[in-house]
Amino acid sequence: MSTSTGRLTFCQTCEDVEVTEFLSLGMQPAFRFPVDAQEAETEKLWPLDLGVCTRCGLVQAMEPVSERILFADDYHHLAGLTAGYRGHLRELADELAALHTGEPRRGSVVEIGSNDGSLLDELGERGFDVLGVDPCGSESPGGSPVVKDYFSSQVAKEVLVTEGPADVVVTLNAFAHVTDLHDVLDGVCTILDDRGMFVSESHYLVDLLQGLQYDFAYHEHSRYYSVTAMQAAFELHGLEVFRVDHIDTHGGSIRVFAGHAGVHEIERSVTDLRSLEDSLHLTDRAVYDAFARRVEDHRDELRRVIAQITADGSRIAAASAPGRGITVLNYCSLGPDDLEYVAEISPLKIGRLLPGTHVPVVDQEEVLCGPDQPEYALLLSWHIADEVISRLRTEGFRGRFVVPLPEVRIVD
Ligand SMILES: [Zn+2]
Repeated sequence: MSTSTGRLTFCQTCEDVEVTEFLSLGMQPAFRFPVDAQEAETEKLWPLDLGVCTRCGLVQAMEPVSERILFADDYHHLAGLTAGYRGHLRELADELAALHTGEPRRGSVVEIGSNDGSLLDELGERGFDVLGVDPCGSESPGGSPVVKDYFSSQVAKEVLVTEGPADVVVTLNAFAHVTDLHDVLDGVCTILDDRGMFVSESHYLVDLLQGLQYDFAYHEHSRYYSVTAMQAAFELHGLEVFRVDHIDTHGGSIRVFAGHAGVHEIERSVTDLRSLEDSLHLTDRAVYDAFARRVEDHRDELRRVIAQITADGSRIAAASAPGRGITVLNYCSLGPDDLEYVAEISPLKIGRLLPGTHVPVVDQEEVLCGPDQPEYALLLSWHIADEVISRLRTEGFRGRFVVPLPEVRIVD
C-alpha cells in the first residue's frame, strides 16, 4: 500500500492551478506513539511542506499522507476529549437544536468523522435521529449508531437508501484531512436534503497566519481553510456558504454553514469575513513568504530559551503531548537532550515515546506533579493555556511555564 499520495503540485480544489510551496516543516511523523526504542527505529516520517494556490487561496500539504495510514486502529485522538471541548459539543448541539424545532423529531443528522460519538449523543438527547460515519468509530456510550467506513460518494449513496436525506450533515475538523475533497463534497450533496445544512468546523487559516500557529500543521491536516477557499470548493458542487461563525476552538476555527445554492439567505457574517480576507490578500504569495520567515525566527527563539534554561542548570519537561506539540518539537529539533520527558494523563500514551523526537512519555501525576518535579514545564497545549495551567497548579506543579506560541514567553 502506498503511504503518501505523492507530491501534489496542483491545487486540490482548482485542479488546474499549480500551488506555490512556501514553508517546509521538515520530516514529521504520524500521531502514533512508538512503544519502545526498537519500534521507534522503524518509525515512518514524511515531509510536511505547505503550499498555496494563488487562485482560490487554498493552503495544502504538498505531500498528503493517506488517511488510511493516519487513522489506523490505534489512533490516539481517541484518548479522550478535554472538558472544554465537551462543552463546545454541547453548545453546538444546542445551536443545531435551536435551528431545527420540529416535533416530536427535530430531524436527521449524519456526522462525518464521528469519533467516539460524543456530538451524536448530545444531538440524540435533543431529539435528532443520528448516524455517524467513521472508520474507527464505535457505538457511543449513548448508543448512537455508526457506519464504520470512510465517508465517500459511494457510502453516501448507501446511507441515502437506508436512512433517507439528512437535514444536517456535520463534520468537525475532519474536512481538512479527507483525502478526496471533491468525492466527499459529492457525497455531502447526495445525502443533504433540499433545504438541509452542511455544517463544518475547520481550523481558520487567518488565525493560523496571524497567530503563527504553524503547530496546527500536521499530517492529519492536508488542507487549511479560509472562507474564500471553502467557497471556491463548494461552488464547484452547487453548495453555497450562507453563514460563518468565527469560534475559539483549537486556537481559532470557523463554523461554516452551507446549503444547496439559492436555498438559504446569505448572512452578513459571510460578507464580513470575506472582506477581512480580501484585505489580508490571502491569494498573494508574499503573505505566505512573510509567515514562513516568522516561523523560522520562532524556531530559533524557542531553541534559545530552552537552551538557556538547561544551561542555567534548571530542568524542563513538556506538559502533555497534543498533535500540535509534536509538530513543534520535530520542527525545532527538540528531543531527549533538551526535554527530560513529556508528562501525560492518557494511559494510551504513558510508557511510550513521543512520535519523531522519541522523548519518553511519563505519568503526569507521578512525575511532573510529584516531589521530584522540574523547574519548567513547556506548555504544548498553549492554545488552552489557562485551562492547563490551572489544572497543573491544582495537581501540584510549582514551577514556571514556557508558553511557546504565538511568541515564546515565561509564565510564573
Ligand atoms: Zn485553488
